[in-house]
Formats: sequence, structure tokens, C-alpha cells
Amino acid sequence: MDGCIFCKIANHEIEVAALYEDDDVIAFPDINPVAPVHILAVPKDHIPGIGDVGPENSGIVARIWEVIPSLAAESGIAEDGFRVVANSGDDAGQSVPHLHFHVLGGRRMGWPPG
Ligand code: AMP
Repeated sequence: MDGCIFCKIANHEIEVAALYEDDDVIAFPDINPVAPVHILAVPKDHIPGIGDVGPENSGIVARIWEVIPSLAAESGIAEDGFRVVANSGDDAGQSVPHLHFHVLGGRRMGWPPG
């Protein structure tokens, strides 16, 4: 989608240090990490958010959930534990309206989140 930063990353208009990439998914470090490991796992297709997931695109979400454990293992956070977050809408603080999953680890995290 025009103007979408994650679409630009997905189609290599903006280069990132991709940690994983296939035809459907790209994963790369968050530019503003909030944990020692902070990776974004992103579908290449423009899905605005969680509320836009349905039968036509839920396969890509399942695919991302297959990729996430590998990302965690390769980043060294699988054993001690990690968190996966998808923010939806203003109250959750979603700032990029293109579905993405934060993979966070490398430090102890509190619950509930603030
Ligand atoms: P959210 O606030 O849940 O929508 O998450 C969006 C995330 O994208 C934030 O954590 C930003 O730091 C991150 N972000 C925005 N632009 C970039 C970029 N060019 N490369 C990597 N991460 C980015």
C-alpha cells in the first residue's frame, strides 16, 4: 500500500537487515527496541491489523507463527523465554497500520503490561 513503511520494507524500497524472509513473510530488528531482542515479524501483504484477518489471509498468520519459534531460537531467547505482541488500535499503541508481531526477549518482562 502506498505510504506504508512495512510495505516499503517488504518490497525492498527500504532496506533492513532481514533476519528471515520468504515470499510471504519478512522479519527484521525493530528500529526502536524495547528489549535486548526485539524483532518484528511482518506479512508482506498489506493487512492493516488484527481486525482485518479472515479466511482469505489467515494462512499467512499461521505461517508467521511457524516462523516465530525459529526467530526466537536463532536469537537465543527461546530457552529463557520470550513474548509475542500484536498491538491493535490506539489504546494498544499500534503505530504502524500494517499487521506485525513483536518478538521480545533477553530480559525479564512484567505482567500485566503497562
Ligand atoms: P506498533 O507500535 O505496535 O505499531 O509497532 C510498530 C513498530 O515498528 C515500532 O516498535 C517501531 O519502532 C517499529 N518501526 C517503525 N519503523 C521501522 C523501521 N523502518 N524499521 C524497523 N522498525 C520500525
